[in-house]
Amino acid sequence: MTGSISSTQKMDRLSLAVNAIPPSGIRRFFDMAEKMENVISLGVGEPDFPTPWNVREASIASIERGDTAYTANAGLEPLRIEIAKYMEQIFHVSYDPLSEIIVTVGASEGLDIAIRAIINPGDEVIVVEPGFVSYAPIVTLAGGKVIPLKTKKEHAFKLTKEAVEAAITPRTKAIMISFPNNPTGAVMTKEELLPIAEVIDDHDLLVISDEIYGELSYDTTHYSFSRLPRMKDRTILISGFSKAFAMTGWRLGFVCAPSDILSAMLKIHQYTMMSAPTIAQYGALEALQNGREDVDKMVTSYRQRRNFIVESFQEIGLDCHVPGGAFYAFPSIEATGMSSEEFAEALLKEEQVAVVPGNVFGSGGEGHIRCSYAASLDDLQTAIQRMDRFLNRK
Ligand code: PMP
Repeated sequence: MTGSISSTQKMDRLSLAVNAIPPSGIRRFFDMAEKMENVISLGVGEPDFPTPWNVREASIASIERGDTAYTANAGLEPLRIEIAKYMEQIFHVSYDPLSEIIVTVGASEGLDIAIRAIINPGDEVIVVEPGFVSYAPIVTLAGGKVIPLKTKKEHAFKLTKEAVEAAITPRTKAIMISFPNNPTGAVMTKEELLPIAEVIDDHDLLVISDEIYGELSYDTTHYSFSRLPRMKDRTILISGFSKAFAMTGWRLGFVCAPSDILSAMLKIHQYTMMSAPTIAQYGALEALQNGREDVDKMVTSYRQRRNFIVESFQEIGLDCHVPGGAFYAFPSIEATGMSSEEFAEALLKEEQVAVVPGNVFGSGGEGHIRCSYAASLDDLQTAIQRMDRFLNRK
């Protein structure tokens, strides 16, 4: 055959599922920002702290010892034991380290294999939005049907029992939730979660609870979904080291789940990943054993910056609810009359401040921008001045 391949042919040689998902909307802004100078980025969803030194050292030591082979598929046994202890101490949930915990390549892998382990073609998965950009695509890739469930600003982006009930159909298999939330920063208390758990129990659903920001809760203590009555057996709890321990590039997460679901997930994990990175696992072990003080310091610092950014937004006339957790503020830009894409693009071009337009986080995100406050206070101050100037011109 001669000649170039047509765009239809190019589509045809890919799977229907991959053609159905869009490229990540966040990336586009990073690519634009990277080509510009003097940009202050409130765009990235990662800590601005380097990984604490003792964690890096533990990893270096593992390399020096030559501990560089695969680990057990489910992860180093001492690490799983430490994860179980940590989850019990910090979040009061108890899991058996050997049958109910696996170590994954980031929370990202945990989310993916959770969905793949439970979804049959056509099964519906309720995805709470605005939410992390991966949720809907991984459901689509697994052949499931995404049912977006929009949380609202009027409810501080929390779920309500009525909204969950209205989204359920006979085909609903699971619901994906995440509090503290990316991008809204919303948190939900035990009292607020209880009615949701009742609905889940009544309708015999599974819950994928992404609690990666659990430690980063500033006004209340995070309440794990699996701690609610009768929810442990229905919940796949996803977490990891990226956020609280400032270890995004280490690619290490973990899953706590009922043993039947966990062994199904382990099957996928062993064929696709084999095991999570070994040297990262040694670092994570150190993080859990001796990292409490560092986490506390980072949380204190994020809280201070959260307070600063929310107050500053209010001062410059951006309506912003108080985000209780994670490291994002999600102010409304509706008053400007611009779409979130227009706003983010103009702000980047005119004032070199990178934020993420809310529409990339699914329904309910339009009319908002996500600003990560995991940036230095100096940068935050300059970003606020520039945004103030930008808003005054509009
Ligand atoms: N869940 C949420 C809500 C996130 O914000 C992120 C990262 N931005 C992830 C999961 C992925 O985390 P990891 O680095 O552990 O894969």
